[in-house]
Amino acid sequence: MTQPQLLMTFDDCTVDHWFAHRGVFDDASARVTFFVSHVDRLTDDETDKLQALQRDGHTIASHGLRHLDGPHYVAQHGLAAYLEHEIEPSTAALAERGLGHRDFAYPYGRHDRATDDALTARFSWVRTTSVRHLDGRATQVLVDLDGRTRVLPSRGIDVGRRGVANLDDRATLLAVLDESARTGAGVCLYAHDIADSHQGLAEGRNFITPDRLREVLTAAQERGLAAEGFEGLPD
Ligand SMILES: [Zn+2]
Repeated sequence: MTQPQLLMTFDDCTVDHWFAHRGVFDDASARVTFFVSHVDRLTDDETDKLQALQRDGHTIASHGLRHLDGPHYVAQHGLAAYLEHEIEPSTAALAERGLGHRDFAYPYGRHDRATDDALTARFSWVRTTSVRHLDGRATQVLVDLDGRTRVLPSRGIDVGRRGVANLDDRATLLAVLDESARTGAGVCLYAHDIADSHQGLAEGRNFITPDRLREVLTAAQERGLAAEGFEGLPD
């Protein structure tokens, strides 16, 4: 597998929509990563679809069992309870279904030193979220994937959030991809559901449209960025 340069990720559990739009990944020769929550509640059909996505070379990994805010839960119940109730059952439920890889994405992007220390001991990489800067700080999301860090920042590219359209920041995103191509640094992006605009907004989703997703993956491909799943990262 090629060393990844673009790490496109999707969070939560809209498996039917991810699967329905998998042709968008294929068309751009992109492999991506799905960070799945509530794995114990997957239907057999959803499990089959995730297995098919995994067979296509995409990475399936944990987003927590109940999508908990890690630092908040640890403050209330302790680190051991967090690992026992949120982390271990999630990876176990993935493994029972023949799914999973040793990576994790923090729900809400919420993390701190204690959760990072505990989770980087268990996972190869943990993904956080970053501010969606519109100025020069946007390139702060770029990382040396061969470096020492295992805590990966990521930029959100959903077009809508909870029923409200996000600001159109595609020019900034293209500048980030340009800089990734110029420097060789890696870039991780995240989205949630894949849905058409009217549907995503009406239903209050965090979502990207298939068209926008295609645009981003094509832009990466045109710049020569290898779009691979987390499985392609060094351990
Ligand atoms: Zn989430």
